Amino acid sequence: MEKIISDQKTFFHSNATKPYAFRKGQLLRLKRMLKENEEALMDALRKDLHKSAFEAYATEIGILLHSLQHTLKHLKRWMAPRKTKRPLFLRFAKARVEKEPKGVVLIIGPYNYPLQLVVEPLIGAIAAGNTAIVKPSEFPQNTEKLLERLLNDTFDSRVVHTVTGGVETTQNLLREPFDHIFFTGSPRVGRIVYQAAAKQLIPVTLELGGKSPCIIDKSAKLEIAARRIVFGKFLNAGQTCIAPDYRLVDKPVKDGLVRHLKETLKKFHPDPAESMGRIINDKHFERIVSLIDEEKIVHSGEHDKDSRYIAPTILDDVTFEDAVMQEEIFGPLLPIITYEDLDETIETLKGKPTPLALYVFSEEKAVTRKVVGNVSFGNGAVNDTIYQVANPHLPFGGKGQSGLGHYHGKASFDTFSHQKSLIERSTRTDPAIAYPPYTKQKMSLVRKLMG
Ligand code: NAD
Repeated sequence: MEKIISDQKTFFHSNATKPYAFRKGQLLRLKRMLKENEEALMDALRKDLHKSAFEAYATEIGILLHSLQHTLKHLKRWMAPRKTKRPLFLRFAKARVEKEPKGVVLIIGPYNYPLQLVVEPLIGAIAAGNTAIVKPSEFPQNTEKLLERLLNDTFDSRVVHTVTGGVETTQNLLREPFDHIFFTGSPRVGRIVYQAAAKQLIPVTLELGGKSPCIIDKSAKLEIAARRIVFGKFLNAGQTCIAPDYRLVDKPVKDGLVRHLKETLKKFHPDPAESMGRIINDKHFERIVSLIDEEKIVHSGEHDKDSRYIAPTILDDVTFEDAVMQEEIFGPLLPIITYEDLDETIETLKGKPTPLALYVFSEEKAVTRKVVGNVSFGNGAVNDTIYQVANPHLPFGGKGQSGLGHYHGKASFDTFSHQKSLIERSTRTDPAIAYPPYTKQKMSLVRKLMG
């Protein structure tokens, strides 16, 4: 590893990765890799997480192809130095910001979208002119091995190199002198990564998780809300970082919402054992099953250990004290908490760790404005779930416990770039005002110019 990283450093310092043509060429390689191996990637994702072809394409392959298209379209403009204004007392010097790649970056991925969540940051890293070491999650083994082979066949190891392995591999990598670490995963491991990076003052992006609330106000269109909630909650069997983790439902519409959720589930998943994804491993299966309170089940609760299948399950009359509310669920359980007072609910949310996402369903602008204006969250949607992540014009990231930094589209380019600020001064004249000896007149002039 040390040799590969040092070769990447040498290659980076040769300036080879900096020209637009080089970056474009690498992005096109990546695009070709995805297109030519679409079937193999879908097959690996099906084996690992039982992802349907539609989910695998829409949430892993298609979204990356779209991101590549967006990046290729805008890259030249993002790379261009940006001239800035200047204050009166610096009017003699032109100012600009140059976008400089950070250098050799490390990308560590989680298991739930094993392809998307390493390749999406990789697009940003390459676009910004970096070289990268990629460490996909070790749990979706078919995707991990396939990604290793495809990425290592596609790229010169001085530009992108993929390593596989578990905790030990990652911990060894974290001792290396990277110029940026981009981590997606749990807040627990996020802390480990942050601490390791701090030892060498390496900048980090942390894309973490948490419990994302979903508020359903009494004015919400319940049938549509149910459809959008079922879609977002049960995508990838609930193993989605921005899944609407739990519902806070206005009392007058609670029963109606539960009815619509059940009806929608029957329509969307007539045979859930066939259409639903699978839990990644036994440990997570056991963990999720242990969160089910039998007495609160109002829909299904079925599960099968051998195939790591958990049916979409609705839990009603849940309280903040229940087991299901003590951790990010990351599985197909849909808890419902009823509220009577929105202001009180907002106060409760303010006392909790900042969620990665927040969703609010309401037909009243005053309600959505109140929620969005009063509760802090990483990203979110009004009358929808999940789709905010698919808009490359929107920076994506968490806040506090749910993450640090942003990516997607230009935000990715910026994350992997250093903003090198410069002033450029003419040497034609050289007024004495800023130089000693500092007279009273100079002092009064400086006061006028600056104050
Ligand atoms: P994880 O934190 O267990 O693992 C992520 C990566 O860290 C893996 O590559 C793993 O090999 C490595 N790792 C694990 N333990 C380590 C250790 N002790 N030292 C160093 N490296 C270690 O996360 P996960 O279970 O794969 O993913 C689920 C979590 O990720 C959830 O919390 C979810 O919300 C979050 N997530 C966030 C986003 C986002 O975009 N914000 C996206 C997907 C998942």
